[in-house]
Amino acid sequence: MANSCNACGLCCRLFYINLTKNEYESGKYKTILEEHGKISNFKLAKEVGANLLAKKEDGSCVYLVDNKCSIHEGRPKVCGEFFCTSRAKRFEGMVEIIKKADSKAESSVAIASSKI
Ligand code: SF4
Repeated sequence: MANSCNACGLCCRLFYINLTKNEYESGKYKTILEEHGKISNFKLAKEVGANLLAKKEDGSCVYLVDNKCSIHEGRPKVCGEFFCTSRAKRFEGMVEIIKKADSKAESSVAIASSKI
């Protein structure tokens, strides 16, 4: 079965998006700790979570507008790789969280990582 997306926006509300080194260093993305300044050492930035995309007060991704990705063409790598229909081992936990949230309308938090 091919992966598909029904554009429900759940993954953009539930998960923290982990930027790759290149994405973080590009400075193109709003990150959760950016008001404290940029950490030049990516390994350290990752350890403290400075490479996570910023979220709005409601917990959704800062780029989610009207339930759509406002930076779709330039979205982080992991956003393009994840599908809630994925059978990839590395997305197993996230797929389970989506299924639970979808059926119970609960919110959970997880970290979405792309291979760097
Ligand atoms: S960058 Fe776009 S696709 Fe990725 S979580 Fe945010 S709104 Fe969703």
